Amino acid sequence: MSQGRIIIVSGPSGVGKGTILRTVMQQRESLHYSVSATSRPMRPEDREGVSYYFVSRERFEEMIAAGELLEHACYAGNYYGTPLRPVEEALARGESVVLEIDVQGALQVMQRRPDAISVFIAPPSYAELKRRLAGRGDTPPDIAARRLHIALEECRQAKHYQYTIINDSVGHAVQELEAVLTAEACRTSYRPLNLKEED
Ligand code: 5GP
Repeated sequence: MSQGRIIIVSGPSGVGKGTILRTVMQQRESLHYSVSATSRPMRPEDREGVSYYFVSRERFEEMIAAGELLEHACYAGNYYGTPLRPVEEALARGESVVLEIDVQGALQVMQRRPDAISVFIAPPSYAELKRRLAGRGDTPPDIAARRLHIALEECRQAKHYQYTIINDSVGHAVQELEAVLTAEACRTSYRPLNLKEED
């Protein structure tokens, strides 16, 4: 059985992480997507247990205290965290686990699990980031400016990641993420050779 790995994927919102991950996950069945817990309110497009496990702030704080989370962070005033048990169970089954998490959480996982693969997904340019964050033009300018500021701060943290993928087109970004995962699977330490002489 091949050994599962933790794959951390971060990048500013609006950069297209979700689309890239969905495509790669359709192509690779042995990837398990980690559903995070959050205390943020549900949005209309959210589904309980699929987008997130939605919990109260009190419940989230209990989860932290009980050591139930691999990592957690506060983002835009809400808690987000990765439930530890499902990650451990998937790894034990030989699956690799995708964590789509913010930079603060990513740094914690890198510390706790130095063998994790870390990938930062970045926009191709400042102008493109600005365009993507402005959405369909219905975002008030002050909110768009704040999102842009946060996104640029996040991009400055790309240096902590092993790989950076520039999302200039979804097809190209998917190809690059595929290439990273393929190369990582070929690392000698994860490729025991089966050369026992037959008796
Ligand atoms: P959103 O509220 O838009 O779904 O997510 C906001 C941010 O929280 C995104 O950058 C997302 O990647 C991050 N995030 C989602 N789940 C987790 C998690 O479990 N841990 C951490 N640290 N960040 C998360």
